[in-house]
Amino acid sequence: MPICQSGAKRRVYMDYAAASPVDERVLSEMMPYFSDDFGNPSSLHGSGRGPKDAVEDAREKVAGLINAKRKEEIIFTSGGTEANNLGIKGAAMRMRKKGKHIVTSAIEHISVLNIMKYLQKNGFEVTYVPSTPEGFVDIEQLRSSIRDDTILVSVMYANNEIGTLQPIIEIGDMIRGKEIRFHVDAVAATGKVPIDVQSLGTDLMTISSNDMYGPKGVGALYVKDGVSVEAMGQGGGQERGLRSGSENVPGIVGFGTAAELAANEMVEEGARLTRLRDRLVKGMRGNVQDVFLNGHPTRRLPNNANFRFRYIEGESMLLNLDMMGISVSSSSPCTSKSLLPSHVLLACDIPTEEAQSAVQFTLGRSNTDDDIDFVIEVVPGIVKKLRAMSPFSPANIQEMRSTAGHKERDEDHHQDG
Ligand code: PMP
Repeated sequence: MPICQSGAKRRVYMDYAAASPVDERVLSEMMPYFSDDFGNPSSLHGSGRGPKDAVEDAREKVAGLINAKRKEEIIFTSGGTEANNLGIKGAAMRMRKKGKHIVTSAIEHISVLNIMKYLQKNGFEVTYVPSTPEGFVDIEQLRSSIRDDTILVSVMYANNEIGTLQPIIEIGDMIRGKEIRFHVDAVAATGKVPIDVQSLGTDLMTISSNDMYGPKGVGALYVKDGVSVEAMGQGGGQERGLRSGSENVPGIVGFGTAAELAANEMVEEGARLTRLRDRLVKGMRGNVQDVFLNGHPTRRLPNNANFRFRYIEGESMLLNLDMMGISVSSSSPCTSKSLLPSHVLLACDIPTEEAQSAVQFTLGRSNTDDDIDFVIEVVPGIVKKLRAMSPFSPANIQEMRSTAGHKERDEDHHQDG
């Protein structure tokens, strides 16, 4: 067993939303395309043929995972962020003659929110639909925010921090038949829950490889047949002219294999993770006072459990768990360098102080019942220690008040004397 950085003997990795290891079966499929079959898929000579076929085979597999009608609807990118840029900016630019109003949610991934900010600076108007306290996009507010000049709605499939599964079917139904593009950031959900783009009525969907045990730095945008987006970069015209540049063949092959494995194993693994997640939630609630599950108890990703530990800073909890060999995230793994509270929790109307106390556990293949037992055993001690020194805990506030009271009385006494 590897010894982790903190020196703890046991390592329990529960941060799969931040990164997942590449599956060995994925890695072995990728290897030949680094060396033996290194050709450029665009080459006309023989060494391009193998890589080209491999890219097309991967395209078929990725299309299969989300039930796209044709493999040509899949455009490979360098990850979820690039696919979000291509889908959102590309659709906005293509539709700008019809209108300049975009609807999104307040709980989107930071990459989407920053794209929206960019579009606002460039003449588009964006409505951010609020979240319900349970972490769902408020569907009625979304309905009333749609206008004649709305050109694009972008809502995520599942929230990457609190795991809530968004009402994508209802949103698709709401805008079906209107001249509005529907983009879905499905990075957190693909490979974890079944997705069928044909029945959802989605025009554009973002997916990413690492969230399903594929390599990092590879993703895709699904672009439904007949939907047009403007390319964000210009170059050699690869990927139907939408994403120029020599293809990352090993990465794409890995993504394809990961998608195929996810399609085959998702249901069984999803059931296993749901059971472990529910044990973690039950154990945490049973063993720790004043702990709350963020999001909805069941309408959430099978592997996500996000808690608020009242009176404690999430960051301190993370560091103490790390000392015990347990890896988790506080707020979004993508932005956890920042100490600001999660925008998702604030959008759920959770007070700032409580939002700071959030810790996210995302489970994956390596996790077992023993890991859950270990976490449930370790957390109460850490909570006790951190609350004992927390300036927010009621016992400490009481003590500080009574000490201050004594001091005041002593000072009065001295003055009287
Ligand atoms: N959207 C969501 C919901 C995400 O969780 C992430 C990060 N995993 C991204 C987009 C960005 O994906 P990538 O890191 O592949 O660019």
